[in-house]
Amino acid sequence: MISSTPNPSSAQSAKETIHYLNQQALGLIDDDPKAGLMLARQALELALWHQDAQGGFETHIAQSYLGVGRFQMQLSCYPEALEAFELAHSQYELINHPRQAALCLSYVGTALAYLGDYPQAQAYFYNAIEQAQQAGDSQLEAEVLNDLGYSFVVMGRFTDALPLLTRSLAFFRESGSKIPLCWVLDSLCSAYLGLNDFPQARAYQIELIRLCRETHQWKTFCEHLIHWGQAFNRLNQPQKAAHTIRLALRKARLYGYRNAEALALHALGSIQNTPLSFSESESLLIQGLAIAQEIGSRPIELDSYYALAELYKTHANFEQAVLYFERFHQCKEQLYSEQTDTQLKNLHAAFQLRQARQEAEILQLRNHELYEEISRRTRAQQLLEEVASTDTLTGLLTRRSWLSQAHSILLREAQQENWSSIVLLDLDFFKRINDEYGHSAGDDLLVAFSSRLILSLRPQDLAGRFGGEEIIILFPNTRPAEAERLLNRLRDMLSTSTLIAELPEIHVTFSAGITSLPPGDSFALPVLLNQADQALYAAKRAGRNRNQIFGAPESFPSPQK
Ligand code: GH3
Ligand code: MG
Ligand code: MG
Repeated sequence: MISSTPNPSSAQSAKETIHYLNQQALGLIDDDPKAGLMLARQALELALWHQDAQGGFETHIAQSYLGVGRFQMQLSCYPEALEAFELAHSQYELINHPRQAALCLSYVGTALAYLGDYPQAQAYFYNAIEQAQQAGDSQLEAEVLNDLGYSFVVMGRFTDALPLLTRSLAFFRESGSKIPLCWVLDSLCSAYLGLNDFPQARAYQIELIRLCRETHQWKTFCEHLIHWGQAFNRLNQPQKAAHTIRLALRKARLYGYRNAEALALHALGSIQNTPLSFSESESLLIQGLAIAQEIGSRPIELDSYYALAELYKTHANFEQAVLYFERFHQCKEQLYSEQTDTQLKNLHAAFQLRQARQEAEILQLRNHELYEEISRRTRAQQLLEEVASTDTLTGLLTRRSWLSQAHSILLREAQQENWSSIVLLDLDFFKRINDEYGHSAGDDLLVAFSSRLILSLRPQDLAGRFGGEEIIILFPNTRPAEAERLLNRLRDMLSTSTLIAELPEIHVTFSAGITSLPPGDSFALPVLLNQADQALYAAKRAGRNRNQIFGAPESFPSPQK
């Protein structure tokens, strides 16, 4: 590539050429990002070559990495963009250019958010805000406040997002920068849509549409239409939802916004009570999934797996539903393991939080900054707890997290004068499976069993892995007979489907002990658990593959035991 560009004799003319290439590239960012990327890469190669040869090109290398990253973002190549921004960042740190370094941190955060690693992205945003403040760059600070606020919106934490977004909005209104104003208005709209405050969202939308037209921000416009369509979907207005999202899809395809296209395909394919046929929805979701995989967008990939699983489930294709639930689960687990780094940082943050609290007590300091620091770390801690509440093998709740959630649900149901039922179930003769097929087949079986369990439960039911192959379920507002019906539905599903594709001969049954809490009774969770355990033991004794309600007459032992 170097040979195709003028080979400058002196360092000065090389610098001019690099500068010229970067400028030319920037002019192409909206209209022809692929051509822009080529120019930016040429600039980078030239800078690296001259740095090797004579040195003194650090600034140009940093600029060129930043440019390459921005084009990769525009082309939805997030992993590549991430790498370029990280390199640009370390280069700017090296030459001590804090403003640009802060800008790179914010870009790294944005790329991570597109890849679905929100905790890590937020860590970068906080960092960028701090450094932008130190460098006295309030424009950048306001832009990153918006990025941070929007990441809270995506995580469903709308009330956390609002103060950040409002601060950002005030700044851009004041400074009159129209393009970033578009971005903040879109974030605010999404936050208010999430809070079901439609009048407020609509007020921001009107301003947003006008500004997007004026400044040609079609990408923001597309994403905004999708958010709005998804809100129609939540309000159960499928026709309007489909119409709005189709509009976005057309625009995304016209301008080549791959991320928006994948988002729109997913949104269109997962409308509830959709006007589309099953095969139309299926094909939209699969197309969306393919684009998400191609551009490396984990969030859309995850959502697509889930939507496909739900679609197949509604159409009683349980084999396919299970397959996609499992893919969803695997993909999520992968995401979690990529986030271990973040978890370690959060653990460290939790420790620092305790220290910060003690110091605050000692000094009786009501210092505003410290307060912000504490709430920021509390949020990091909450995230950590969310991750630790799921059992990594089965995706069910861990024992501890089940216990704490079950307790408050039981309290709530008791106050509302409802029945609750608790089921303890245990797989039958599981040890034989391990002995005959090996431990990893046992693991696969546990995973397959858990996906079917999740499929057979209702959204309000709470399932946790209690120990090895023992699972605990709380059925709120449910009488024991209804709990039995749900368990038998799971039994039917188990007996008619293949659990492990490579070992189709493996089947498994379970025994269950049921106990219930009548309306208004006071309760102690350990007593209920003990009752469920006694009933489970009775079910095992009576021959397994059956339910036993605590306090009901026991069934007779089966003769073949
Ligand atoms: P039953 O409950 O019907 O009385 O018989 P069982 O063979 O299922 O009962 P037991 O409780 O004696 O054995 C349970 C086995 O489950 C023993 C243990 O090795 C296995 N197990 C527990 N956790 C796991 C796990 O995570 N993976 C695998 N593969 N096996 C597990
Ligand atoms: Mg067992
Ligand atoms: Mg057991």
